[in-house]
Amino acid sequence: MIKKLLVANRGEIAVRIIRACRELGIKTVAVYSSADKDCLHVKLADEAFCIGPAPSAKSYLNRTALITVGLSTGCEALHPGVGFLSENAEFAREVEKSGMHWIGPDASVIEMLGDKVQARATAQKSGLPVTPGSDGAVKNAEEGAKIAEKCGYPVIIKAASGGGGKGMRIVRKKEDLAENLTIASAEALANFADGTVYIEKYLVDPRHVELQILGNGKGAVAVLGERDCSVQKNHQKLIEESPSPGVSDKMRENMCRGAVNLFSSLKYRGAGTIEFLVSGDNFYFMEVNARIQVEHPVSEMVTGTDLICEQIRVCTGEKMNLPSGILPVKGWSIEARINAFTPGLIKNLRVPGGNGVRFDSFLYQGYTVVPFYDSMTAKLIVHGQNRKHAVQKLLCALDELYIEGIKTNTDEQKLILNSPKFQSGNFGTGLYAELFPPK
Ligand code: ADP
Repeated sequence: MIKKLLVANRGEIAVRIIRACRELGIKTVAVYSSADKDCLHVKLADEAFCIGPAPSAKSYLNRTALITVGLSTGCEALHPGVGFLSENAEFAREVEKSGMHWIGPDASVIEMLGDKVQARATAQKSGLPVTPGSDGAVKNAEEGAKIAEKCGYPVIIKAASGGGGKGMRIVRKKEDLAENLTIASAEALANFADGTVYIEKYLVDPRHVELQILGNGKGAVAVLGERDCSVQKNHQKLIEESPSPGVSDKMRENMCRGAVNLFSSLKYRGAGTIEFLVSGDNFYFMEVNARIQVEHPVSEMVTGTDLICEQIRVCTGEKMNLPSGILPVKGWSIEARINAFTPGLIKNLRVPGGNGVRFDSFLYQGYTVVPFYDSMTAKLIVHGQNRKHAVQKLLCALDELYIEGIKTNTDEQKLILNSPKFQSGNFGTGLYAELFPPK
């Protein structure tokens, strides 16, 4: 086993990685921006180095600084976490070249999956259905109009290199297509340095379902159940659960079969997620996220595994601890993201606990939440015997959680969990807008 690892991220995910490393007996080196000097990950790591000012472009995205810190401190691996450089193939290549292990799949695999157009084609080859739409980049408005006509309005224009729910435009009638293609392409170019866009049929109120995968890099693939992430605000996930209340055994089997084919053919290494949209009895491949995801804890709870430990093991040449194939799941797990509406000083913090209650966060009393990064401050995760039990447990835990000093979305989360529609399990990605109609 390696002895030292560089954590190339901040906040909650950095804390999570450090905890996993401690369990594995691996020393950790943290990096931070000058705005993050008091962040919990800095306090928990064995060593910590400031790599630049607050803007992430000058700190957490500074590839040279990250590699320099890693090498000069004797790190044998680099964990990119989520966001930032976690799906940057060029950086993955630089890390591997430097002699450190990259905690993620091979750079060529990231590259292929990062291009959503190419990923769609590869998924189709593995026997997975994709949303009706352009089978490649849309070259011009004329071609776009033909594709949109064929799949039927509404359609959604997406950036080939997009992510985080950004760069998507819904078009409801043909008169609006040409203009939206131009805008979407310009936005994609500005945000992702790639103006390539493609078109998909826009499904009304689908479910978002994804599978958690772990691959050993040699073709063996374990599936750690599915997650349902249909509770979304502006295409951003808010509540995630495992299993999904809207997937039949037959659909799960078909999803898993295609996913295993795909990941096995890629000789996928480490943790990854394959995302689908589900509409009625049909499911459609959407994309692969070639990294660990924020919502990984619900999969850990129902499968009894530590995904970060496993990820580190398989990406540093250790044997995969999990059997290949579809793992059995036990009980029900739900996660609520605790997002801050405002930055500010945490004057007081009371954290819930008890059987099957987990609070993953970087908050502590006296810490000041800074405005420069992601608004997510914590994840509250519970594990119950069944869905009803898990919902009840999460509501109790949310009631117990007390964060003084910043405004968070906990009241909103309680309203969602208490709503009859959420509790029925029968809902899609439109749930949030239904409960909180835009004013
Ligand atoms: P990103 O990578 O930016 O997160 P995704 O492709 O994963 O983007 O899509 C994010 C969300 O956008 C989905 O979970 C879903 O709610 C919505 N979405 C994406 N494609 C479609 C589609 N074809 N029809 C309906 N909703 C969609």
